Amino acid sequence: MKLFELLADHGHERLAFHHDEATGLRSIIAIHSTVLGNALGGTRRWAYTDEAEAIRDVLRLSEGMTYKAAAADLPMGGAKSVILAKPGAAATEAEGRAMGRFVDTFSGTYIAAEDVGVTPQFVDWMATETNHVMGGDSVSHGGDPSPFTAQGCFNAMKACLKHLGKKVDFAGMTVAVQGVGATGFRLAKLCKEAGATIVASDTNNANLEKAVKELGVTVADGNIFNTKCDILAPCALGAVLDERTIANLKCSIVCGTANNQLAHPIDDGARVKAAGVLYGPDFVVNAGGLIRLAGLYIGLTEAQINQKIDHIEQTTTAVLKEANSLPSAYEAAVSYAKRRIEHGRTNRKTATAAAR
Ligand code: NAD
Repeated sequence: MKLFELLADHGHERLAFHHDEATGLRSIIAIHSTVLGNALGGTRRWAYTDEAEAIRDVLRLSEGMTYKAAAADLPMGGAKSVILAKPGAAATEAEGRAMGRFVDTFSGTYIAAEDVGVTPQFVDWMATETNHVMGGDSVSHGGDPSPFTAQGCFNAMKACLKHLGKKVDFAGMTVAVQGVGATGFRLAKLCKEAGATIVASDTNNANLEKAVKELGVTVADGNIFNTKCDILAPCALGAVLDERTIANLKCSIVCGTANNQLAHPIDDGARVKAAGVLYGPDFVVNAGGLIRLAGLYIGLTEAQINQKIDHIEQTTTAVLKEANSLPSAYEAAVSYAKRRIEHGRTNRKTATAAAR
């Protein structure tokens, strides 16, 4: 594996490896960009098949964080970390603390948070060793970001409806939600309260039953991606939109909280557009949680944070408009984010020159 070529391919700044002898922790932190500021990104704990898979994952995820933060107009860069877990091995406090010490060596250039396989408790364990961690159970670390992610996605749904010239009125609409976990349940609730009928699927029966009982959702009959609906909201896994699922979509909008929904961003982004389905780009529509945690970390007020989450609607509108003349909404979103980063780079150069 040619590591420097991999870094250069997508403009990554740093890739750091850590082994903690006492706990056996093996982890990697990737900093994609600090052009706009220090970089916040979750810690993923996963039993990777090999080291190459972990490296590819951390590089891909950290790049995505740069675009998410830039599109959300945060003065933050993009980074991510991964822990190479042994299959079936439960996380321990010692491991969490060791990871916290690794994060601390970045002195705030990297700020960790929750991600797949990392519980709020693990975040709190990391936080015993570093101030540069957000999320977790403790309110001082920002708490659970998912209500804010759901709210931002709901705001983006309104932009999608407007873009299609539809009335922003959920009454009489059907929203199909894949995954009624932390974000999906709350998004379903917001849509329900706005008057929509919800169809849902979840591989976790307890979560599905809760949504049936508390929100009165209808359980999807078969594959949720084939459900006839107005809006399909993927709120579970990544890579759910591929050649096969796109061909069978029966909705006019896809807008959900899941990260990396397009299996092959360029090809599948164009396929969704060609299928006549409007796609709310994931890293634009699901930025609410990041805005919340990053906002608290950099000292924004509650009002400023909420304003930025409200602003997801305008950003989605702007990106969708640009997508009219581009192959896909995904490409429009990346180009939107890259312009903000370039703007930040120019400002930084100007400020440095002025200080000389
Ligand atoms: P979660 O684990 O609380 O919920 C996910 C739900 O999806 C669970 O109920 C799970 O059982 C279900 N699920 C898993 N596989 C499924 C499948 N094949 N079909 C149907 N349901 C399935 O996670 P979450 O925090 O709600 O995150 C959901 C997605 O949103 C993830 O992709 C995550 O990366 C992304 N995201 C979350 C946040 C946040 O604030 N939590 C922020 C940005 C992005």
